[in-house]
Amino acid sequence: MSTKEDAAECSIKVMCRFRPLNGSEKQRGDEFLPKNLAQDQVTFGRPSKTFTFDRVFGPASTQEQVYVAGARPIVKDVLEGYNGTIFAYGQTSSGKTHTMEGVLHDDHLRGIIPRIIDDIFNHIYTMDENLEFHIKISYFEIYLDKIKDLLDVSKTNLSVHEDKNRVPYVKGCTERFVASPEEVMETIDEGKSNRHVAVTNMNEHSSRSHSIFLINVKQENTISETKLTGKLYLVDLAGSEKVGKTGAEGTVLHEAMNINKSLSSLGNVISALADGTKTHIPYRDSKMTRILQDSLGGNCRTTIFICCSPASYNEAETKSTLLFGVRAK
Ligand code: ADP
Ligand code: MG
Repeated sequence: MSTKEDAAECSIKVMCRFRPLNGSEKQRGDEFLPKNLAQDQVTFGRPSKTFTFDRVFGPASTQEQVYVAGARPIVKDVLEGYNGTIFAYGQTSSGKTHTMEGVLHDDHLRGIIPRIIDDIFNHIYTMDENLEFHIKISYFEIYLDKIKDLLDVSKTNLSVHEDKNRVPYVKGCTERFVASPEEVMETIDEGKSNRHVAVTNMNEHSSRSHSIFLINVKQENTISETKLTGKLYLVDLAGSEKVGKTGAEGTVLHEAMNINKSLSSLGNVISALADGTKTHIPYRDSKMTRILQDSLGGNCRTTIFICCSPASYNEAETKSTLLFGVRAK
């Protein structure tokens, strides 16, 4: 069977990753809750319930294992002209950024994004000379429903438009052409430092904003003059934790309501796609789902990483994260 037929069915994979207990959880005497961690199952909670996913990764899983299972197959399809999206979902400090970025300049600990970059360029280096590649990247965040360009701090409120083929895009967002993995890494560092400069507390800010990295791969065959384009969205979502009903007011409450709304519209879109029988997919309910419209569903490849804390202290949040994952299947 050809790869194109393989990819024709809409593919959403849900993978669950439990990080190890961290220092403060251990100090507090928190229990390690996940039980019977298996290839595609985990038992969790009190009373316990068994959850099944496409893959489950325990606390000893490596960045390499996570990449090979959850991202490499999508990269392969993007290089064949398909679109894809990889998300990390979970409460703050559950391991989303560790999974998506990891320690960027460390061979062992780097996460999905730097590994994708290397894979794409390694692929290009092995290809025929009559194939010309054009790689461009964008890097932006969505905070309080405003799109901010991380590669140009003067652009703080970009809007979503549709091109003549009705493909949505962020209008005016910087697109950087890159010719080597090093250039991409420099661009990521630049975007991250821009993000830091604009805020006083980065941890708080990153837990309340979605960060989106877009890689667009265009191939041109200079002999047959055929073109092929694939794009890949890599999304580190805002923290999914609920803000306490009491205490939250003003900006914090406003932020929390905004995050809840955008995460629940994402959940609605994904569960409608996973259902397979729905004729209406509610893409228009949030900026993020509008942007991702042509990279979710249809012929696209999607992996959702459900990131979980193993600590008894976080039991309620972890349970709700696991349920989000179940809804997406
Ligand atoms: P989030 O982005 O969800 O808020 P982080 O990815 O920043 O969470 O993770 C919080 C902390 O836990 C970081 O110090 C990170 O290095 C560590 N961590 C997360 N996942 C793992 C893991 N699988 N193995 C080891 N350490 C991890
Ligand atoms: Mg993070």
